Amino acid sequence: MPMIIGKISENEKKVKFNVEIHCTNCGKKVPGGCQAGEKYYQTQAFKIELENFKREYLCGICRDKKRREKQ
Ligand SMILES: [Zn+2]
Repeated sequence: MPMIIGKISENEKKVKFNVEIHCTNCGKKVPGGCQAGEKYYQTQAFKIELENFKREYLCGICRDKKRREKQ
């Protein structure tokens, strides 16, 4: 399942793109197939959201670990 950046409305065309994402915890490179709505893609807001997404990204393993630590 590609990750979705921003919101895509139901009938909106989707743009698929690849982005290099690294887990912010372990540094593992994650193959990032992403999707965004056609109108949203390449807007300034989109770029900011993508940067935030990359800055906060955790791979599945680190996300699980974090979740377990909270319990
Ligand atoms: Zn990780």
